[in-house]
Amino acid sequence: MGDLTGKTALVTGSSRGIGRATAERLARDGALVAVHYGSDAVAAEDVVTCIEGAGGRAFSVGATLGVPGDVDVLFAGVEAGLDKYGAGEVSLDILVNNAGVMGGVPPEETTPELFDELFAVNAKAPFFIIQRALRIMPDGGRVINISSGLTRFANPQEIAYAMTKGAIEMLALHYAKYLGPRGITVNTVAPGITRNGHPVFDIPEAVAQMAALSAFNRVGEPGDVADVVAFLASDEARWVTGAFLDATGGTLAG
Ligand code: NAP
Repeated sequence: MGDLTGKTALVTGSSRGIGRATAERLARDGALVAVHYGSDAVAAEDVVTCIEGAGGRAFSVGATLGVPGDVDVLFAGVEAGLDKYGAGEVSLDILVNNAGVMGGVPPEETTPELFDELFAVNAKAPFFIIQRALRIMPDGGRVINISSGLTRFANPQEIAYAMTKGAIEMLALHYAKYLGPRGITVNTVAPGITRNGHPVFDIPEAVAQMAALSAFNRVGEPGDVADVVAFLASDEARWVTGAFLDATGGTLAG
């Protein structure tokens, strides 16, 4: 599936977790991938090295999201990389808005500062990243935003986080209509609990509890989600736009 040879992609937050698996998968499909990170340059370089070791092409770009000037810093790095590795053509075919932060506190303890940070990283940054990316995205491009099953599955520890994911889902609905005439698709992928290297995944009892939420009785692997993103990035998904793709392993089935 998905020959992305000659295509370019930016995956935000691809120094680890779902983003890393997505960057690796898109590179395996042939895309030149911008591996974006916030703070962990070493991890991002490791992703680039792994992609290159597997015969793919990638470069890393650092930019803290959710702060003033974030999108300018991000695209300065993306465009420099595309210029350097993309034979002088600065063009972005695929954008995956993956970087995100969780809250992890009950509603009573959610401060205005935490609320603002969650919205700045998870909702505001993706909006302005899309706005900026469209300047260099050709017709037929792809935008994929990573939401969460928590827009459909209650977790009171993550109300503010879930609100940000509700916001990001609006991007697919409205941008799909706006960008349809250019053949650009905009879709949402909603992961469920996915092993991302967090220490909780080292506790067997916790993993068993989380696994029980899925119809398959296991937690998701980053590759489970990356494969869904790769489908949406491919030509095979040209007729899918404005969609919400449930990548929760059946968690939302109840
Ligand atoms: P993760 O392992 O926590 O990694 C987050 C990534 O985002 C890292 O590459 C990190 O970069 C980057 N990032 C975070 N805050 C940033 C900031 N302020 N500026 C720039 N980069 C930032 O993530 P994940 O668990 O794979 O989740 C990926 C996406 O899926 C997120 O949108 C998340 O909400 C969503 N999701 C995850 C799960 C799950 O169970 N894992 C479930 C549902 C939805 P650095 O480390 O370099 O700073």
